[in-house]
Amino acid sequence: MTFKELGLSSAILKAVEEKGYTKPSPIQEKAIPPILEGKDILASAQTGTGKTAGFTLPVLQYLSETKHPKYRPLRALVLTPTRELAAQVYDNVREYSKYVNIKSAVVFGGVNAKPQIATLRSGVDILVATPGRLLDLHDQKAVSFKRIDVLILDEADRMLDMGFVREINKLISFMPAKRQNLMFSATFSKDIKKLAEGILRNPISVEATPQNSTAKKVTHSVFKVDKSRKTEFTIKLIKDNNWNQVLIFTRTKHGANRLTQKLIKSKISAAAIHGNKSQGARTKALKNFKENSIKILVATDIAARGLDIPLLPHVINYELPNVPEDYVHRIGRTGRAGAAGEAISLVCSEEVEYQKEIEKLLNEKLKSTIVEGFEPTDTAPPKRAATQSKGSFGKKKNASNSNSSQGKKPKRKPHFKGNKSNSTSGRGRTGAPKKKRF
Ligand code: ADP
Ligand code: MG
Repeated sequence: MTFKELGLSSAILKAVEEKGYTKPSPIQEKAIPPILEGKDILASAQTGTGKTAGFTLPVLQYLSETKHPKYRPLRALVLTPTRELAAQVYDNVREYSKYVNIKSAVVFGGVNAKPQIATLRSGVDILVATPGRLLDLHDQKAVSFKRIDVLILDEADRMLDMGFVREINKLISFMPAKRQNLMFSATFSKDIKKLAEGILRNPISVEATPQNSTAKKVTHSVFKVDKSRKTEFTIKLIKDNNWNQVLIFTRTKHGANRLTQKLIKSKISAAAIHGNKSQGARTKALKNFKENSIKILVATDIAARGLDIPLLPHVINYELPNVPEDYVHRIGRTGRAGAAGEAISLVCSEEVEYQKEIEKLLNEKLKSTIVEGFEPTDTAPPKRAATQSKGSFGKKKNASNSNSSQGKKPKRKPHFKGNKSNSTSGRGRTGAPKKKRF
């Protein structure tokens, strides 16, 4: 199967070629044709399998082929859970849209809104955004959703997890009922399906890999080591192996800062990325890490989803996450796009239960090793995960069906009136010129 056979236009093909992609990934093969046909989809595939191009390519093609010669209303919206992911998806959108006359932009919180407002006013076809800032901008009338044709939720599971359901539904209430909806997620939980029911209409489910599986080429290993010696052990691992690009996950922001300081003291260049850092610091840390001007990025789970750091060879779990799904997401940062990777976890006596839960989820035992000189002596009993595997989802209310009421004919001209004009009767998009089929 080639990209061309999927029905993509030459302008899109050219951009794809420039990115060096030779053939579509499995999820792209499955998702692109129905998206081009205007269908709603619910897609799940492991991290690093090219979901971004899976939705961006067909949407760009649709936008460019149905573009109004004069006006540039906002017609496609990509919502992402984190600022970093928004920035990254936007970078991809820009690259993929190099040869089509489509303008894109990104907006997220933590930075000055003024330039964002100016950009939106100047006309944007496709916008990538985090929900909170986008609602603010909408409140300020800097953006209108009246002509939204395609809504894309990227990393939908993470958005649920972060409690964005309310915001998402609010945003949707300002959009025409008749539109195409695409939902992408790495994992496919019950809650995701529930959210999907509220938003998608007769969706096609597209799944490219077994649920919750980790990238095949990633080797997992566990080092049993005392809690108090983890820092020392981490430094040894990095130095002995001469690793120069490692992503390390800690459970807390404080822990991330502390470890970063210790690494720097040991002459290993490092930066921390977490929710207490300013947006400027977060962006800079990620950029430096990608460019390899620092060796180590220490992150909390905020960085675990969706970030694409090409060919990241090593991920270290300084602590195991207490939600086993997070393990899958964390190690999704290695072994990207088919490359080999190594996921290492440092496990002390308190974490053995977490390890068991992860092994259960992966259906795989993690090979445990004890290193000479670091023989564990900890006797602290295991901490049970405060929440069971689905806990962080389960607790949240997913009021996700505010836009799924049926009945009523769709109004051709939707206004800013909440979800009064909803319909499930029509499929496909509104507000755009007739669309070619492929
Ligand atoms: P996901 O959203 O599924 O986690 P991404 O969209 O971030 O994955 O893509 C992961 C990496 O794979 C990116 O570096 C991207 O450029 C690359 N990629 C995407 N599609 C292809 C392809 N068809 N061939 C080769 N590399 C690809
Ligand atoms: Mg992604």
